[in-house]
Amino acid sequence: MFELAIKKLKEAQKIVFVTGAGISQESGIPTFRGKDGLWRNYDAMKLATIDAFYENPKLVWEWYNERRKNIFSAKPNLGHKAIAELENFVKVVILTQNIDGLHQRAGSTKVLELHGSIIEIKCTVCKFKNKILTEFTNIPPLCKCGNILRPNVVWFGEPLPQDTWQEAMIHSSNCDIMIIVGTSLVVSPANTLPLYAKQNNAFLIELNPEETMMSSDMDLSVRSTSVIALPQLLSIFK
Ligand code: NAD
Repeated sequence: MFELAIKKLKEAQKIVFVTGAGISQESGIPTFRGKDGLWRNYDAMKLATIDAFYENPKLVWEWYNERRKNIFSAKPNLGHKAIAELENFVKVVILTQNIDGLHQRAGSTKVLELHGSIIEIKCTVCKFKNKILTEFTNIPPLCKCGNILRPNVVWFGEPLPQDTWQEAMIHSSNCDIMIIVGTSLVVSPANTLPLYAKQNNAFLIELNPEETMMSSDMDLSVRSTSVIALPQLLSIFK
């Protein structure tokens, strides 16, 4: 199977990556479902909802401020950098569930953020949206229109930004290889992207130290971390 994967990789015109929290784990950013996935004894998955936000906006803002600090001090790892360097050899598109911006900081040029970005804010009511330029002293911060501002991230139960999602489906339906890295593939609808690729005869490779919901659909599963597996993948092209 490895030989077939190497052949497919060398022949590929376009590779689509679907990435999740696991690719940033070795940069020191905790995953949601890993053993270090809890914060202050709260369940991260219960904080990342609109109901949690309206119930206690200050708490949710504190949680995002803490995560943002952690993300700003983190650096792209060898996995992010290997994907960025791969652009020198083949067309690469990244569909990421991450909100940390590490792919872009590693130098990748085509990154679709399916779940938004932790460095952006938006108003809960009007159309205002911006990058966070300085930390807020009063939380929750207010918009000029008087309503509460929130992080521009997609919470559980919310729809994805539609333009980004449409584009992600098109890239998934139209790639030679899809490489799925560091995601448990339990979050919908991002976890349907491999199905679009498979329906259109793409070769599916999963890089994850653990089995996932869709391991049985993969053409190849590599059980190692992204910092080990992605530079190895890049070396095939060199
Ligand atoms: P998840 O927490 O559900 O799953 C993480 C996956 O990564 C697991 O399958 C795990 O086995 C794997 N993994 C752990 N360490 C790894 C490593 N070193 N190399 C490769 N794989 C590794 O993450 P998810 O599937 O992305 O879904 C969680 C949601 O949480 C997403 O919506 C995402 O937006 C959000 N999230 C983002 C960040 C971030 O931006 N860095 C961090 C935490 C959560």
